[in-house]
Amino acid sequence: MTGTLPSDIDVLIVGAGIAGASLAAELAPHRRVLMIEAEDMPGFHATGRSAAFWQESYGGVGVQPLTAASFAALSAPDPSFSDRGFLLPRTAVTIGRRDEAAAVDRFVAAFAAQGVEVSRLSTAALADRIPGLRPEWSAGAYEPSCRDIDVGGLHAAYLRAAKRAGALLSVRTPLLSARHAVSNWVVQTGQGTIRASLLVNAAGAWADGVAAACGVAGIGIRPYRRTIAQVRLGVLTPATLPLVGHIGGTFYFKGEGEGRIWLSPHDETPSDPCDAAPEEIDVALAIDRLQSVVDWPIAAVERKWAGLRSFAPDRLPVFGRDPDRPDFIWCAGQGGFGIQTAPAIAQLLAWQLGAPAPYGAIGAIDPAAYAPSRFA
Ligand SMILES: Cc1cc2nc3c(=O)[nH]c(=O)nc-3n(C[C@H](O)[C@H](O)[C@H](O)COP(=O)(O)OP(=O)(O)OC[C@H]3O[C@@H](n4cnc5c(N)ncnc54)[C@H](O)[C@@H]3O)c2cc1C
Repeated sequence: MTGTLPSDIDVLIVGAGIAGASLAAELAPHRRVLMIEAEDMPGFHATGRSAAFWQESYGGVGVQPLTAASFAALSAPDPSFSDRGFLLPRTAVTIGRRDEAAAVDRFVAAFAAQGVEVSRLSTAALADRIPGLRPEWSAGAYEPSCRDIDVGGLHAAYLRAAKRAGALLSVRTPLLSARHAVSNWVVQTGQGTIRASLLVNAAGAWADGVAAACGVAGIGIRPYRRTIAQVRLGVLTPATLPLVGHIGGTFYFKGEGEGRIWLSPHDETPSDPCDAAPEEIDVALAIDRLQSVVDWPIAAVERKWAGLRSFAPDRLPVFGRDPDRPDFIWCAGQGGFGIQTAPAIAQLLAWQLGAPAPYGAIGAIDPAAYAPSRFA
């Protein structure tokens, strides 16, 4: 938006990444919403840097219900929100060396028990799906439901839906501080003062800092850097290459068209909140690990980037009212699964803030497991 900020609104959302934008889209038909974003454009931080996949097992069994419940909304959203889906074909294979076969078995058992479509692959089937796989990588689990996500399209659709329903977005507008006065928040921003009944902290890596600036105790949200490199190979990999991840969590890669992959060393380096940049050592580590997995020659590193994944102490997302300051709302700690869980988190949180109860798989989730009060 241009011009002066509204001085009085129902819900102020701090941060316009996928968390803030999806919540704004769900709440705007029911409350007066303003999003404020510190950067020049929304999506500049974690949201714009993801690996863009939906994998039901990613993030663990506590995250899986949110991921699973989001599938329908991502693949065929409500027509009032978008006229197309945001999921594209992929599939995933989680691999291990011979001596990691038992870990792959445990992975399959744990997620099959949750209802995830996952099965053990024979060594031959594994080699078929990943041509050039070195023979010591003989254990594999197959998840056919894995998809790519059109993250840019999804984020833009949420922002559009929010705007259509009357929400406002102000960029270059950092929250500087806030105090609670009688029944309102009085918020100082880089563009002036705003009064709001509810203040939502959707500030990603900055979530604990935003809480401190509002006089609210932090809950220990910690950012960790993750690196991705786009690598051109000296061999044509099939267009159908799955997302391939290590059961031990030391790499993943996925095809980006023939002969090109996105590759990560699955790094998790503690960081202050910042504009994260990739380090050469992490790219080198990723390539070294890739070469121990497949016999593909590397032609060039075409692009590399890094972003911050932010976790609560128990690595589950945190959304809901702060137990000591109920008009301060957390929407943080989305780790490495914030895109694939966005529809479920946004609908469950919007419900707590005045939107109608979600129906279907999302409505069946008890949000108590993700409430900030678990840290009280
Ligand atoms: C390398 C990488 C790969 C990933 N891959 C996947 C994946 O494949 N699938 C998946 O589901 N997830 C993935 N993720 C995780 C996902 O990207 C995040 O969980 C998600 O983007 C978090 O969204 P967010 O809106 O909370 O944070 P962000 O996108 O970081 O948004 C927070 C916003 O708050 C703003 N802000 C901060 N402080 C203030 C302030 N004081 N005032 C105003 N604004 C402020 C920031 O500028 C920022 O724009 C990945 C993450 C990374 C880094």
